[in-house]
Amino acid sequence: MDRIIFLGTGGARNVMTTQVLSTGGFILEIKNTMLSVDPGPGAVLRAAQEKVNINKLDGVLISHRHLDHCSDVNVMIEAMTGGGYKRKGVVFAPKQALYDDPVILNYLRNYVERIQPIEGLKPYSCRNLKFKTSIPHKHGDAETYGFIFYGSNYSLSYIPDTRYFRELAEFYKSSICIISTLMLHRNKNIDHLSVPDVICLIEEIKPQVAVLTHFGMQIYKEGVDKVADKISQAVGIRVIAAKDGMVIHLQELLAGVN
Ligand SMILES: [Zn+2]
Repeated sequence: MDRIIFLGTGGARNVMTTQVLSTGGFILEIKNTMLSVDPGPGAVLRAAQEKVNINKLDGVLISHRHLDHCSDVNVMIEAMTGGGYKRKGVVFAPKQALYDDPVILNYLRNYVERIQPIEGLKPYSCRNLKFKTSIPHKHGDAETYGFIFYGSNYSLSYIPDTRYFRELAEFYKSSICIISTLMLHRNKNIDHLSVPDVICLIEEIKPQVAVLTHFGMQIYKEGVDKVADKISQAVGIRVIAAKDGMVIHLQELLAGVN
């Protein structure tokens, strides 16, 4: 069964450094392929706590080089490759994260089967799982891409950090949409999505279900369920606030079972 395991649901500096919410990103298991997506600080610890066997990873996927999305990538590589003794797995990351301001240690790069630089609007695959990168996001000077993953009879999108812009929704049409929802209110000086932005995106994308994650301090203090309920009422679509350790079975979610 395809599933997502949220190792962490926190985002941005204050939440990351206080760990009021964990920041390990999430594990995706689709078509018997296991990916670590945006392994921020604590991803390895949280995987151990949730009894997720990261030795079985087939790949690590990084949306951009900010610390809350990639700090644990090196230790994830160690785990995926059995400490370098079993050469396997693919690391996908924007060129900027690989070369300009590298986040992966040189000596670990030979441990994996392949390091794949990603570009916008390109198809990629990892073992049985096919996915596509989004148009480049508007996120400060960080080269950032989101993804659509293709399950057997559904699609799952992940919208990481970005400023809202109109073209986003065109790309992210999908059955289930995971959205980084960092801020309560719009702030034109900050390149992150706010609750009003997320309302616009869900109205435009019209997924069957939206899952919110990567919460900043404002949303944490407001209460993540309260925020998700407010958005759900505004858009008339099911909206779930992810929790640290939450497991979502994707086919069951779409069938309305959980
Ligand atoms: Zn970021």
